[in-house]
Amino acid sequence: MRKTLAEHNRVFAATILLFLIALTALWLVFIPQWKPFSGDASLIRLTDGNGHYKGNNSMQVLPDREGMLEYEQVVSPRIAEQFLPADGRAAFGLSASTYWLRMTVVNESETGEWVIRLHNAVVDQFDVYLDGNRLGAEGVSPLGERLNDHYGAYELALPAGKPVTLHMRVTTEGSMIVPVELLDRASYHETLRTEYLLFGVYYGFVLLMAAYMLSMYIFFHNRSYLYYSFYLIFFAASQLIWNGIPQELLGENHPVLQLLLHTFNTLEGVFVFVFILCLWFALFFLVGVLELKRYAPQLLPFAAIVKWASPIVIAGLLFHWPWFVTLAIYYEAAVAAFLLSAICWCVLNGNRTARYLMLGFIAIIGCALPSVLYTFGLMDSNPLTHYGYQFGSFAEFIILAFALSFQARQLQREKEKAQSRMIVHQQELVRTLERWNEELESTVQERTEKLVQSQKERAEMLQSISHDIRAPLTVVQGSLRALMMGIRVGSDDKGQTLEKLYDKVLYMNRFMDDLFQLSRFDESSVELPLESVRVKDWITREFQTSAEDIQMMNHRCEYRIEVEDNRTLRIDLHGIRRLLGNLIHNACKFSPLDSVIILEAKSLPDGISFSVLDQGGGIPPEHLNHIFKRAYRANQADPASGSGLGLAIAKQIVERHSGAITVESRIGEGSRFTFILPADEAGSAAGPGSERSSA
Ligand code: ADP
Repeated sequence: MRKTLAEHNRVFAATILLFLIALTALWLVFIPQWKPFSGDASLIRLTDGNGHYKGNNSMQVLPDREGMLEYEQVVSPRIAEQFLPADGRAAFGLSASTYWLRMTVVNESETGEWVIRLHNAVVDQFDVYLDGNRLGAEGVSPLGERLNDHYGAYELALPAGKPVTLHMRVTTEGSMIVPVELLDRASYHETLRTEYLLFGVYYGFVLLMAAYMLSMYIFFHNRSYLYYSFYLIFFAASQLIWNGIPQELLGENHPVLQLLLHTFNTLEGVFVFVFILCLWFALFFLVGVLELKRYAPQLLPFAAIVKWASPIVIAGLLFHWPWFVTLAIYYEAAVAAFLLSAICWCVLNGNRTARYLMLGFIAIIGCALPSVLYTFGLMDSNPLTHYGYQFGSFAEFIILAFALSFQARQLQREKEKAQSRMIVHQQELVRTLERWNEELESTVQERTEKLVQSQKERAEMLQSISHDIRAPLTVVQGSLRALMMGIRVGSDDKGQTLEKLYDKVLYMNRFMDDLFQLSRFDESSVELPLESVRVKDWITREFQTSAEDIQMMNHRCEYRIEVEDNRTLRIDLHGIRRLLGNLIHNACKFSPLDSVIILEAKSLPDGISFSVLDQGGGIPPEHLNHIFKRAYRANQADPASGSGLGLAIAKQIVERHSGAITVESRIGEGSRFTFILPADEAGSAAGPGSERSSA
């Protein structure tokens, strides 16, 4: 059963809350005052109390779409009046690649040494004009030189008390973000020191993290670690470019930088290229870690599109396809939106790793938001607007590392579970195999014993058969020889001898017939010729005929039929007659002359029972279990009494009708043989009705 979101995510919700509280605290600590656009719109007064000014508050902006305007044209009254106030904003979108900025400053401080700084290193060109001269140009050194700063920066010699108008020309492809700052020399150096310190800590950390992830990949062969380390490396590289560190360290004319600039046209192009690479690896990493296949299969096609759009955008940047720098910026936004929705989706579907990623996202957005607000003039410059990305990504890296280790732990756990399941299955399999083996062994043993037993029985039977045939044959042979030689056999005359010989031949004939019958039953493929009979009519006729036979054998017969008129049976008529005949024959054979033989037929709920009762000597109990075996005679001493096959045949016939045969016997009182034939399923139900007869 799936838990509800609230149950599932209580801890997660609490963590998010904690995060938001921590972020708010961070905001409160670092942002001294919420200060949307303030100050004199047209003038910046530089005083001794403050060494750090945000230029955008008092700046005016003029987009130069073609990038063709010269300083002289910009200061001409016709164009000068087209400047519009920046209202504190630092971001001017993608509508033009060159902008002119203008601001007026009055130096009311003691010091005349100031620095003007553009807080964005990926701007391709940043020129500052003071009193009609471009700073850094030949021959204007008294006014100010370009500084070897990681951002674009110029020193400014500002005369005291006199308003001075500064013009700036900024050129970049893609997004135009131009935060301008004015700092006095001391503040400038202090800012630089703090920046170096923070950058050092930050990039050192990123490098360590990337190396750690790479080693994790080497040990665990989990590709997520590899993607993540590449993501870290490219993210750090993009930040380095954004912060202007390579330009500062290598110098603008370094061959590597020149090559990069040559390849991507502009610094913005280099930055976007590296950033898209970073996004690409982030995509691979996140799609893997989020297990989209399991938690958000609907997003897979989008994931594939954004994943494979990256190389196209990268190619576009490499080959300078028109508009690709701009397009890349939209692509970045699309990827960020996709990742955010994928993370939310997975969190909703119960993916725990996604929760870590969500926290990471909150961290980076929470920390980077001030810089965004700053670029739109909604917040004053402060450490968070300055280092927000670093703080945010720092937190994000740590959280993502947690996410990775959480996932690795989970995978490990799943692996262990699967292994223990496998062990249990294997044990079960071994047990089953052992059981099968035992069963097979016992079956083989049973069958072998049966086979040995049946072979023994067969040998015994053959022995007894040969004995049973040879005995009468010897008599027949001897008597015939005597007759041929005209010798009398005992006191018998010739007629009596012939009669006895006839009896012996009859016996042998019946014996052979019994043997044949039994061998036929052994062939289980022989089908019984079943017929449907109305039991009462049929058994009445059978009992009548049997009664006559019994009388012929000098016995009396009684029969009882307690079977309803409508009961039917499906039987092999000939077989059942033979079976009854065998039982009656035995009853007569083993009872004194003139004793009563009783025949019974009774309805049972699920069949009909037939019994033959005699008043003979009975069967000793030790023989009762054996008399249905082939060639078994209770009275072994008297082989002439019969073949020992009659009851075996009777049993076979009953069993082939799916019935059962039993015997009850008491020494000196008589025996009762009963066989039950199951009811014909189509036959009607039992009811009252009986008939008695005697002969
Ligand atoms: P047989 O041809 O010897 O009668 P049967 O298979 O019919 O062979 O009987 C097996 C043995 O069971 C007989 O030899 C006899 O000892 C015993 N037997 C069968 N029916 C009776 C009976 N009604 N009374 C006493 N003994 C019987």
